[in-house]
Amino acid sequence: MAVPALHPLADADPTAAELIAARPNLSAHAMDGLALDGVPLNAIADALGTPAWVISAETIRARVRRLRAALRAAGLDAHVHYAVKANDHLAVLRVVAAEGAGADVVSEGEFRRARRAGIAANDIVFSGVGKTDAEIRLALEEGVGQLNIESAEELEQIGALAAATGRTAPVALRINPDIDAGTHAKISTGRARDKFGVAFADAAALYARATAMPGVRPVGLAVHIGSQILSLAPYRAAYARLAALARELLAAGHRVEQLDCGGGLGVPYRNEPAPSPEALANAIAGTIGGLNLKVILEPGRWIVAQAGLLLSAVRLVKRTGDQAFVVLDAGMNDLVRPAMYEAWHGIVPVGAADLARAPAPADIVGPVCETGDTFARDRLLPPLAPGARVAILDAGAYGSVMSSTYNARPQAAIALIEAGRWAEIRPRQPIEALWQDERVPDWLP
Ligand code: PLP
Repeated sequence: MAVPALHPLADADPTAAELIAARPNLSAHAMDGLALDGVPLNAIADALGTPAWVISAETIRARVRRLRAALRAAGLDAHVHYAVKANDHLAVLRVVAAEGAGADVVSEGEFRRARRAGIAANDIVFSGVGKTDAEIRLALEEGVGQLNIESAEELEQIGALAAATGRTAPVALRINPDIDAGTHAKISTGRARDKFGVAFADAAALYARATAMPGVRPVGLAVHIGSQILSLAPYRAAYARLAALARELLAAGHRVEQLDCGGGLGVPYRNEPAPSPEALANAIAGTIGGLNLKVILEPGRWIVAQAGLLLSAVRLVKRTGDQAFVVLDAGMNDLVRPAMYEAWHGIVPVGAADLARAPAPADIVGPVCETGDTFARDRLLPPLAPGARVAILDAGAYGSVMSSTYNARPQAAIALIEAGRWAEIRPRQPIEALWQDERVPDWLP
């Protein structure tokens, strides 16, 4: 189903000043340089070294509150289930849980993390196309709130496990609405050719099958069309299909209690136009609101992306012909989004003097032995000397969770800040930890 294209991006990159001005949690100080929610980033880098992730609890709280208020103002009986995959640190989960959000998880590890952070099992939605028997059994035994079914095969698997464990499985059928969310192909999940959900044409029959299965209690429908969505049109199209199917099921006498509207709300990495949570809430109300069912939302990125950044220092600046390369101490093993999704991240100097200098274009790269280890090409930044620090912005979502130790580079430290104080919430990985679990067979020379 065709959907209008994304908003066109502005031609010119926003300047550092424009990036800072558009983010209420960032400020530039004449003495201390760049600060996140009032905490000077130099102080954290001095203590923890670089690269280091910094995440603001205050920003996370504010965003959960704004989203919940938007849903309420649109007249929806809605509940937020934070998508744990975006940033699964226990401290982050504690912050969202304290704001009354539940969790959306996709693995045993995420389920256990959410539980450990204090999120009740019945406040957890379990999604994912390939859940194991052990994962389903664990979810049923703990009393999971909703299992999202992604295929006919999985419905049978869950039905059998519910019967075997004597539990009742609350299931929602995730439909594939065949909508192009207009986002990067690798994070688009609602087109017919994507692996997610059940075909729209098969959904009514499968729902009827679920209703007839002992041990299975169908509670509703789910849809999630992708991530970093910057237009409401695909949302409206997907929710219209969800509403039509819900009406058909209700007319056929089935119970439909809730509609899970997924996540995906995009953030303006490049200061581009992006829908607000209020606009999304109105789009939900305008498409499915009339059904008066409970609504679930599974946002990840929108809640944590702008709450976090990656602090890095310049190792050296090299020139090849006319080209300047600023080599950072952070690499694609830390933040893989530019290499994996051609993602654009703002890069801003941290030092007060650097913030004030006139910019010139340079490629900003990491030290990893891959050409893909490039954070930005021809980016306008002030001339940076070795040791100068930069902040790679909007890195709170799909940042630290996707890092690896490629090139045998230890995982970076993480700091959490709130109300002017900060704490290290994960130390930099010691170098020995890279091989401490490895075994070399004694028959090797
Ligand atoms: N729900 C499901 C089922 C997902 O797969 C994802 C991630 O793509 C999300 C929610 C969260 O998406 P986002 O972080 O874009 O809000």
